[in-house]
Amino acid sequence: MDLFNQLRGILKVPPLVKEPLSRHTSLGVGGPADYLVFPSDAEEIRAVLLLAKEHHIPLLVLGHGTNLLVLDEGFRGIVMSLTNACSHCQFNNGIVKAGANVSLPWLAKEIARRGLTGMEFAAGIPGTLGGALYMNAGAFGYYTGNLVEEVVTMDSTGSLQARSRNELSFAYRWSNFQDEDVIILEATLCLKPGNRGKIEEILGQMLNERAVKHPRLPSAGSVFRNPSRQGAGYLIEQAGLKGMSMGGAQISLTHGNFIVNNGNATAADIIYLINLARETVREKFDIELQLEIRVVGGNREIGEK
Ligand SMILES: Cc1cc2nc3c(=O)[nH]c(=O)nc-3n(C[C@H](O)[C@H](O)[C@H](O)COP(=O)(O)OP(=O)(O)OC[C@H]3O[C@@H](n4cnc5c(N)ncnc54)[C@H](O)[C@@H]3O)c2cc1C
Repeated sequence: MDLFNQLRGILKVPPLVKEPLSRHTSLGVGGPADYLVFPSDAEEIRAVLLLAKEHHIPLLVLGHGTNLLVLDEGFRGIVMSLTNACSHCQFNNGIVKAGANVSLPWLAKEIARRGLTGMEFAAGIPGTLGGALYMNAGAFGYYTGNLVEEVVTMDSTGSLQARSRNELSFAYRWSNFQDEDVIILEATLCLKPGNRGKIEEILGQMLNERAVKHPRLPSAGSVFRNPSRQGAGYLIEQAGLKGMSMGGAQISLTHGNFIVNNGNATAADIIYLINLARETVREKFDIELQLEIRVVGGNREIGEK
């Protein structure tokens, strides 16, 4: 049986074939995935994992695609979206158990509405809870990893692991998940009680600050990690690169560390600007910029540690 029919046999929702990933990333660029699948529960996730393992087919987990640059060649393998699974959310005083597909901004606002503090920073970070744990997404000096009590993952053999905080590691835009071959299914977060009015005021201030500093055009957020001394956006601006464009892509005029899609950008246009920024910053400041966004192409994800 061919792979399509095997996937069709284990999934309630039929796989999409040669689906352009530009439709599933915030940048709006990226070539096709051989198969894009939408498992409905943990059993279907396990079945896809085992099938991929048996046939040595590369597998990529997709959150909301807000930190991804998919190359124009697309992805040769199976892309798994958790859109139809892992969407549960239970609140029990300060303890929140949520599925990986839960929207991070929604969760941050819901937590604030319940008078719990600690997640205000995340209200403006697009994407899923799973993506935020994988990336250890953060803002204003706060990080998703700081809130974690436990994370449930599934490995490539389909077995489940519930790992507590002391079995996990988080650092600036890094989590242990980036070095593992696992799918994040669920997390338990711990928040503190606070004053709802004050919490919502802080959340609003953070959203306002982002609205002023960040471009409105499609992007994947910050392209580069901030080097220890100076912000990547500042260095790119000082290098005179703000507003530089290639094809439909542009180094944002609003924020030097964002590359935006003006409507018809290709991944190649964006890669050109990434290389330009890296080379110019290296030449002018002797600083090596590291990618924050994850680049996907061919049969693999190219991440920088
Ligand atoms: C306008 C804008 C502003 C942004 N601002 C910020 C910011 O302030 N701070 C910040 O940290 N980031 C920011 N980002 C980047 C992005 O929103 C975060 O990194 C976000 O957490 C990514 O979540 P996602 O669901 O979209 O993940 P995706 O982009 O879909 O995936 C990112 C990585 O996580 C992996 N992954 C996703 N889900 C899972 C899972 N369940 N199990 C295993 N691996 C998984 C993917 O394979 C991929 O490697 C911004 C992006 C945009 C577009």
